[in-house]
Amino acid sequence: MAYASVNPYDGKTVKKFPELTEEQLEAKIAKATTCYVTWKKKSFAERATVMSKAASLMRGHVDRFAKHATIEMGKLINEARGEVKFSADILDYYAKNAEKFLAPVKLHPKAGEAYMESSPIGVIFGVEPWNFPYYQLARVAGPHLMAGNTLMIKHAGCVPQCAIEFEKLFTDAGAPEGLYTNLLISHEQSDKVIDDPRVKGVALTGSVAAGRSISARAGTNLKVASMELGGSDAFIVLEDADIEKAIPWAVWGRMYNAGQTCCASKRFIVVESVADKFLEKFKAALEALKPGDPMDEKTTHGPLSTEAALLQLLKQVEVAVAHGAKVVMGGKRIDRPGSFMQTTILTDVKPGNPAFRDEFFGPVVLFFRVKDEAAAIALANDSDFGLGGSVFTKDVERGKRVASQVETGMMFINNIDWSDAELPFGGIKNSGYGRELGDMGIQEFVNKKLIRTHDMVAPLV
Ligand code: NAP
Repeated sequence: MAYASVNPYDGKTVKKFPELTEEQLEAKIAKATTCYVTWKKKSFAERATVMSKAASLMRGHVDRFAKHATIEMGKLINEARGEVKFSADILDYYAKNAEKFLAPVKLHPKAGEAYMESSPIGVIFGVEPWNFPYYQLARVAGPHLMAGNTLMIKHAGCVPQCAIEFEKLFTDAGAPEGLYTNLLISHEQSDKVIDDPRVKGVALTGSVAAGRSISARAGTNLKVASMELGGSDAFIVLEDADIEKAIPWAVWGRMYNAGQTCCASKRFIVVESVADKFLEKFKAALEALKPGDPMDEKTTHGPLSTEAALLQLLKQVEVAVAHGAKVVMGGKRIDRPGSFMQTTILTDVKPGNPAFRDEFFGPVVLFFRVKDEAAAIALANDSDFGLGGSVFTKDVERGKRVASQVETGMMFINNIDWSDAELPFGGIKNSGYGRELGDMGIQEFVNKKLIRTHDMVAPLV
């Protein structure tokens, strides 16, 4: 069965869920379509009533939501609580700002008057990953529902209880039936949903492989799509960086969510003169992390999301080493029950090693020494991905100059990729296209309609 809660801390199956039958899926698409007809006519204030209620319900039940995430994908309980609160903030942000973001924009033609109106387009289909099982949903639900669209979501197979909780949230908040629909469906059924003429747009957050498949399907159907895919973000340390300040960010950047974040710091690119010092302190800081029960607030190193994720990461490390990478620390599974990976540092990862271009979705550091700033930028850009990145330097203006030259969708100076409701999130190259969050996030699935008034006599033919 594709949808199952399996606790990665102990490998025990908690609950399994059947996929929808074709008839059930058809009924859900029909309801989302019918709901759109009335939802699109609601005022922003009416939509905001449902959205704000959903946000306050999330805040009122932080522990209930958080525990599902910890049990289903191993997230440390305090990180899970933080994610639930942040998800509520995102819903509130769009409840408050959608009307402003989608207000008509006056244009300035040479003759007559014109403006651009933003209107909803219909049922949007989202395919979402397990790594932030609520935040990813809030990133699509907040903007697209406030814009007047309705939403159907296929969540990842390993987080069905989180998926069901989030759907219930909207029901409890008074949403009309069909406004937000969770679909427990197979990949084949997902293809059928994309093909369905009642579905008008497709939003994916996931791997490059899923991006290729889903964007191709959306393209064949000429449907607007947004793709939030993987990343291999550079964490650049220049010779003038404050190393003491950079180390905790390096640990957080790599280890937050057990390293399973699209915009985690994955390639540490350090200028030669400070490389030994940085590596020694980074290693010591990683060694201090304590593996354990993610439900225990004292644990600082949780399991990976699934056993399959652990096996894939171990295989990647094995391949990297077979191609010449050196293991500075870790490299193996932790000798204990559950899907735990040792914190790992690899050096000597050269072009030609598959690890040089791969995304490592877990606690594995790729460590590179470079001659200078120019070499750091060149290495950062030698990637198929272009999601985010960081640069550490005491000279903020220098940091900005470096940030401008790194080919990604987001750059952070003396900080790591950090999302906020009001800041756009997304990448270029294999990291996908489109943006979520901020003003840009709500513009992805709306019709930008030009309306012009120009009273003149038609030109003679
Ligand atoms: P994944 O395998 O692509 O799964 C993500 C979602 O896509 C799941 O719901 C999965 O369903 C579904 N899916 C995959 N292939 C599909 C297909 N052919 N048809 C329909 N649905 C399909 O990704 P993952 O490895 O679990 O998640 C981690 C990836 O997501 C990493 O690469 C990470 O960088 C990326 N990510 C990107 C962002 C961003 O904002 N840029 C944020 C978070 C994660 P099943 O579970 O049923 O297979």
